[in-house]
Amino acid sequence: MVDVALVHPPVDTQPLSSAEGQTSEYPLMPMGLFSMADYLERSGFSVRVVNLALERLLNPGAGLRQLLAGLEAEVVGVSLHWFVHSYGAVEVARFVKSLLPDSKVVLGGFTASFFAREIVERYSFIDAVVVGEGEEALLEIASGAPLEKVKGVVYREGRKVLWSGYREPARDLEKYRFTNLKVFDRWNLYLRCSPSGYAPTRRPSFWVAVARSCPMNCAYCGGSREGYMAAMGRAEPALRRPERVAEDVEALAAEYGVKIVKLSHDPLIWGESYYSRLMEEIAKRGLDLRAYWDLTFLPSEELARKALRAFEGGLCWGLSVETVNDEVRARIGRPYTLGDIERFLPVAERVGALLDGYFLVGLPGDTRADVEKGIEYALETMRRYNNVYFVPPFPYTIDPNAPMALRPKDYGVKVLCGSFECYRRLAKSHKWADWVLHETAQLSRREIAELTERFYKTLVEAYRRGEFAENVALRYSFEHEGAVVRLPAGGGR
Ligand code: SF4
Repeated sequence: MVDVALVHPPVDTQPLSSAEGQTSEYPLMPMGLFSMADYLERSGFSVRVVNLALERLLNPGAGLRQLLAGLEAEVVGVSLHWFVHSYGAVEVARFVKSLLPDSKVVLGGFTASFFAREIVERYSFIDAVVVGEGEEALLEIASGAPLEKVKGVVYREGRKVLWSGYREPARDLEKYRFTNLKVFDRWNLYLRCSPSGYAPTRRPSFWVAVARSCPMNCAYCGGSREGYMAAMGRAEPALRRPERVAEDVEALAAEYGVKIVKLSHDPLIWGESYYSRLMEEIAKRGLDLRAYWDLTFLPSEELARKALRAFEGGLCWGLSVETVNDEVRARIGRPYTLGDIERFLPVAERVGALLDGYFLVGLPGDTRADVEKGIEYALETMRRYNNVYFVPPFPYTIDPNAPMALRPKDYGVKVLCGSFECYRRLAKSHKWADWVLHETAQLSRREIAELTERFYKTLVEAYRRGEFAENVALRYSFEHEGAVVRLPAGGGR
């Protein structure tokens, strides 16, 4: 029996071997799960972390009963951060309550926080939802505090659903540790997971927290300033000091053999001075690491070379082109034009950085013609630059707390789903159209799904025909061990 079990749910709960197929297992756990487990352990509680998505991949014939055999805990926290786990989290909570009727079953995370009241009202086997960042509330629950005394909790009392009141998020994140992987006994397998699954050839990688919340407000992002406030109650982002982030990076490499670190935010969001200090702190540690992060600002060649001095193993950046229409991109909050991207592409090529290109189909203002031009732009860019790989787009499902969902009229979108139940149902669907939960003045739900599928198929079929073989091989070799392709010579120094 442990004091607290923290369970990361699967997308679906039936044995994987009998499942009809789905887009992703999503074994990645939210970073907060590690800091919560560590915080509880350092406070004297015994903790067990169970990643059911990973367990399901490792044991495809097993159902929840086998996967959770032997689970005993006073408090079971089920993570419901990304909405893709809406179905799985509810089913795990249901099963845990039937297995351990005297234990407290508590949900937490972005999606749970945003829909806290609806979740507790609907599901009698869920005792409470922790709203917002969970370290302090979970510690108090584990200590046996009555739920009404724990700030930041929606809970049930008899037939009533009550809110215990707002909890101010921690101003200083330094008391939390984000890289104590030993809280999870499968950490060495976990390092080889990506959103789509587990691959033994994948280089060990781990996400590093730079901040909580974001000063940017991208219209489609639940992690934006407005979205974070709506779900987690944090009005201002909390940024970690560069030295602490660098210490995490060093610990991951030295203690756990991590080869690729993935930064939660583009450090340039906080200005060149923060960015430079972070890169210098990492560079002086002399680690042979690769790094990935999504670009919010396009770095100059000088800044790109600073990053390469920190990460001598190589860099891969996410490049959110999103649309070929500059007005649309500006309206959703991405601070660069197609011209800026065109000027940046040769910089990335010269320094030898790989780029994951992203398009998002269904942005307000984008027309069918814009999306078709986007497909052409992706193909043509990969013909010009073999360090660029465009990720075949899956349907974009609007985050329930994204600015565009919170203020649909301001952005010119119509949101087709506003309840937890709707997200829970879609998580089981294999139809692409079901995953599109909005429409714009220019494109209906059906058109968004159809254009996304066309974009996806065009790229996948081109890759299958062997076009862009070098682009694909470079990207694969960045992530996987034993790949023979060398990264482009850029020279970090
Ligand atoms: S997409 Fe990135 S930069 Fe934009 S709001 Fe979200 S976290 Fe911030």
